[in-house]
Amino acid sequence: MPAWRNISLWMDQLDDPLLARPSLEHDLDVNVAIIGAGYTGLWTAYYLKRQAPELKIAIIEAQTAGFGASGRNGGWLMGNLLGEDRLLAELAPQHRRASFDLLHGIPDEVAQVLAREGIDCDYRKGGALYCAARYPEQEVSLRRYLDKLYAQGLTEDDYRWLSPQQLAEQVRIAKPYGGIYAPHVATINPAKLVRGLARAVENLGVTIYENSPVTHWQSGGLRTAKASVRAAWVVPAVEGYANTLPPLGRYQLPVQSLIVATEPLPASTWADIGLSQGQAFGESSRQVTYGQRTADNRLVFGARGGYQFAGKLRHNFDLTDSEVELRRYLFGELFPQLKKARITHSWGGNLGMSRRFRPHMLCDHATGIALSGGYGGEGVGATHLGGRTLADLILGRDTLLTQQPWVIREGGLKALKAWEPEPCRWLGYNAIIRSFVHEDQVLANPNTAPWRRKLATGIAGFMEGFMH
Ligand SMILES: Cc1cc2nc3c(=O)[nH]c(=O)nc-3n(C[C@H](O)[C@H](O)[C@H](O)COP(=O)(O)OP(=O)(O)OC[C@H]3O[C@@H](n4cnc5c(N)ncnc54)[C@H](O)[C@@H]3O)c2cc1C
Repeated sequence: MPAWRNISLWMDQLDDPLLARPSLEHDLDVNVAIIGAGYTGLWTAYYLKRQAPELKIAIIEAQTAGFGASGRNGGWLMGNLLGEDRLLAELAPQHRRASFDLLHGIPDEVAQVLAREGIDCDYRKGGALYCAARYPEQEVSLRRYLDKLYAQGLTEDDYRWLSPQQLAEQVRIAKPYGGIYAPHVATINPAKLVRGLARAVENLGVTIYENSPVTHWQSGGLRTAKASVRAAWVVPAVEGYANTLPPLGRYQLPVQSLIVATEPLPASTWADIGLSQGQAFGESSRQVTYGQRTADNRLVFGARGGYQFAGKLRHNFDLTDSEVELRRYLFGELFPQLKKARITHSWGGNLGMSRRFRPHMLCDHATGIALSGGYGGEGVGATHLGGRTLADLILGRDTLLTQQPWVIREGGLKALKAWEPEPCRWLGYNAIIRSFVHEDQVLANPNTAPWRRKLATGIAGFMEGFMH
């Protein structure tokens, strides 16, 4: 059996024996065929089956439930979407508020399902702390971001500025310049969520086939090496693995994020650090960092990884020493007492980035194809929204969910923006990331001249502009 336990700290810690479910050995005729047993596929099946129990639904998974990003992520369950400020800017203020409420309500909606289905995934809704923690420019950019949110009608109930003293009530970092507190974020153990959801959908009558990579798919059905499936609806839910299902790779690039976990830390260390409510935290650089204190008192901390030429998937997540040490350096800057902490686990995964750098939830009744993706590293909560939305769209219901600006009902896949061909993608991605790393190095050095700091930020900001 593949070493699924090695996928992440989370999979390693499961009580679940991780036995493989049967693979697809015979042809099938179903109403809905879902490709991929991560959160997107499972949430879609869950909400379809809850509303239409008569539907015959099969999930066909290449490996095991949670093999992808859903069993590997940092466990931030956010009431947000990547790029939501740009998406919602187009709406009238009263609609915008309703959309923000819909998003901010995601963690509570998930909590209700967890209670109903008896899924224990160490859910704690302690909010998120976005910290200006390494150099003064972080305070400037966070304050600017907060102003932008307030200009969209959000208030202190949605996002609140914390002075260094207020921040210290929640987390003690070495160089606090302040931070933003967002209450609508929970932390979870990702693998417990995905494995629990898989059991919940099975209890509702959905069949999951494992070890069954889909080799071909189209409107009306799909094929694996051993069987064909005919289906009125086909739902590819493969996010970072879009390249395995052409032509989806044109619309979603696989990007890697890499993450480490320390051994469980003593109570005295946590008394110094804080994070006693299970708050998620990150430091606000363009490196995209994310951390949490786990239920068993480890520090889990991740940061943006890379992109491989031609969207090649990364399969080997035995991190190199330099990949581990970069993450240690970043969390050690926040918590110097952890610079020598033992790291017991390091891993990573592929996530999906859309060309517009924001998610899409697409449903085409003409072809019977529905998909949700492009979460870009903010998918734990977004997949829940995606699953609920796809269920309503497939069932032809007109609800608040189906009226959002990230929903695409016309044009099919062609309505998605395609990525530029190689080598443009690779060159572009690396130029952008290099500018971010350069900015971070320049700003983290207190001795760099002001003009160099301004120049580095200007270049990184300019490059970031290409992401929108
Ligand atoms: C290291 C890391 C940290 C992250 N941290 C966070 C975080 O803290 N908060 C957050 O909001 N988001 C985070 N994300 C993103 C989040 O985890 C994802 O957006 C989310 O899990 C996507 O779920 P999914 O079901 O769409 O895709 P996945 O979980 O990737 O599931 C796709 C499934 O499809 C299967 N599959 C692929 N190809 C085929 C095929 N041809 N046939 C059959 N099956 C196939 C795969 O095996 C996989 O099981 C992180 C991602 C990574 C990689």
